[in-house]
Amino acid sequence: MKVNAFAAQEPKGKLESYSYELGELGSEEVDIKVSHCGVCHSDLSMINNEWGMSSYPLVPGHEIIGEVISAGDAVKNVKVGDKVGLGWLSASCMSCSECMDGSQHLCSNNEATIVGRHGGFADHVRGHWSWAIPLPEKIDLAKAGPLLCGGITVFNPIILAGVKPTDTVGVIGIGGLGHMALKFLKHWGCEVVAFSSNPAKKDDILQMGASKVINSPRQEMHTLPIILKAQFI
Ligand SMILES: [Zn+2]
Ligand SMILES: [Zn+2]
Repeated sequence: MKVNAFAAQEPKGKLESYSYELGELGSEEVDIKVSHCGVCHSDLSMINNEWGMSSYPLVPGHEIIGEVISAGDAVKNVKVGDKVGLGWLSASCMSCSECMDGSQHLCSNNEATIVGRHGGFADHVRGHWSWAIPLPEKIDLAKAGPLLCGGITVFNPIILAGVKPTDTVGVIGIGGLGHMALKFLKHWGCEVVAFSSNPAKKDDILQMGASKVINSPRQEMHTLPIILKAQFI
């Protein structure tokens, strides 16, 4: 299958039209027809080879939303027609101790969607079925992409920290990631105290569900009673 994409041809290069051929579909792989893809700062870091692991042409995009259009013989959990998301990782070995332990993201043979392979700034992308995450039916596909990267980045520490719905939680920095943390926590039932350096965001932050906004550079932190069982994210 021919894939039409946008690629940088060199470090710091502009994205330009680029097409490539996807070989035969592996038995455990799915092809996803991309409908939406978020833009993450890691895409820029990869385009600019800031981490020294970029290869060119580089097709960024790892907040991918789309529909499964073909599935190999051994694919489980998803099927053709399913709406799925594909994030930073697109494959793992499924047999090492990390994979068997539910820590597939730590698999030493895992595959990152835009490292050494092409990502979602394209009409199609391929991945292992286990990383094609089925999406809820009613989700707004146009807004879902960032959940696959920034979203899981803040959701995971909430789980690891054992946050309970009765906790009061501080979120430092209400930007691309922090605002998702705020919303997750609010919907989980927590009281959320937001620490922000930008007073212009105050109304938005309160609307998103924070009970209080601390202007962090103005050192108002002493006003916060330290009875909070704060879990900082
Ligand atoms: Zn990202
Ligand atoms: Zn593994």
